[in-house]
Amino acid sequence: MKIVTKDKGIYSFSASHKPVERVEPGELIILETEDAVGGQIRSEDTPIESLDWSRVNKATGPVYIEGAERGDTLIVDILDIQLANQGVILVVPGAGILGDSEFKPKAKIVKIENGLAVFEDVKLLVKPMIGTIGVAPDGEEIPTATPYKHGGNMDCTEVTRGARLYLPVAVEGALFAAGDLHAVQEDGELCVASVEVEGKILLRFGLIKNRAPEWPIVEAEDHFSILTADEDLDKAVKIAAEQAVNALIRARGWSFEEAYMFSSLGVKIAINQVVDPKKGVRAIIPKQLVTINDLLIEK
Ligand code: CA
Repeated sequence: MKIVTKDKGIYSFSASHKPVERVEPGELIILETEDAVGGQIRSEDTPIESLDWSRVNKATGPVYIEGAERGDTLIVDILDIQLANQGVILVVPGAGILGDSEFKPKAKIVKIENGLAVFEDVKLLVKPMIGTIGVAPDGEEIPTATPYKHGGNMDCTEVTRGARLYLPVAVEGALFAAGDLHAVQEDGELCVASVEVEGKILLRFGLIKNRAPEWPIVEAEDHFSILTADEDLDKAVKIAAEQAVNALIRARGWSFEEAYMFSSLGVKIAINQVVDPKKGVRAIIPKQLVTINDLLIEK
């Protein structure tokens, strides 16, 4: 099996990065990933002031997927996520939704034991997820910290073990990369960080030719979620709603009016995070209502 080590990483998604590995659709690959702070905090004594912020949010890759062309969909099956036995969470003045409050920079080591993340005297069930995952975008490079149509730092709790992600391919080979694992996170990611942890991801890619989603889609057992992002949270919600209504029109043959009405009844809006350069939300649509084909646009 192919393994990409964590030293092979990028800090932006870009068509100009050289692939570090190539895989065929259907082949298994393991990506080893750094934690989002570049492994710089292994103890609570590490001064936050000493961090090299240029080493933050590395994504392992890029991986070239044979046969992937502009206008295709890259399918990413997340078969497994393995985490190291400790992660770190931190708060930094100026960052996060309460960044303008008065507080000091602080890091906390969170041990991960027997499927539990230990924060002070609270034990949380570990729910491993991939914070940053995407492909090279059209045009200019996008820093790995920013979520957008190519994926990126979506910090969506649904991008987890067993999920299937659909990404729009913009360049030959797709140039896929991923990193920024979280041991546990809740919708919002309020303080800007989660339990940031290094680990390994087992993936398998697939392709859908000549059809692609406009925004990333994640498939869970009973629903699809369309993941959108914008500097403005209201705008991100609006984009997600438009995407969902258009999918309902395509899937059901409904008028705009019918699909718009039904969006109040059958589409749930949830927040991914409110702390990254673009805020992220998702529109959740039950599988009884749409198929993946209704969510993809012909080239
Ligand atoms: Ca993140």
